[in-house]
Amino acid sequence: MSATGGPRSASTYPSLPFTERMATVEFRVHDRAHIVVDAAVCRDCSVRGCVVACPANLFVPTADGGIVFNYEQCFECGTCYLACDREGAITWSYPEGGHGVVFRHT
Ligand code: SF4
Ligand code: SF4
Repeated sequence: MSATGGPRSASTYPSLPFTERMATVEFRVHDRAHIVVDAAVCRDCSVRGCVVACPANLFVPTADGGIVFNYEQCFECGTCYLACDREGAITWSYPEGGHGVVFRHT
């Protein structure tokens, strides 16, 4: 809702460069990855929905057809899990208590 009580329009949200977006969050990284990507399942995936869907750009295609994934700056939004249609490609579990993403008010 906007300050006037009506719904927010898209124009009320300022465009935020990627580096500034990432600067608004803190990550308390745990040793255990809360998302594991099975590179063998990904190898012949031509859709690569995770690459375009992840707002933190954590899925990176490699020249040999693989995918590199880094869980350490994950927003825990779950978008990759929804975007991927391959069984077993992504295994998801929440981080241990006290770990994971922390959104800061600036
Ligand atoms: S995670 Fe899913 S969408 Fe992404 S490359 Fe692997 S199989 Fe494809
Ligand atoms: S949960 Fe969200 S931020 Fe984390 S890897 Fe998946 S899409 Fe990216």
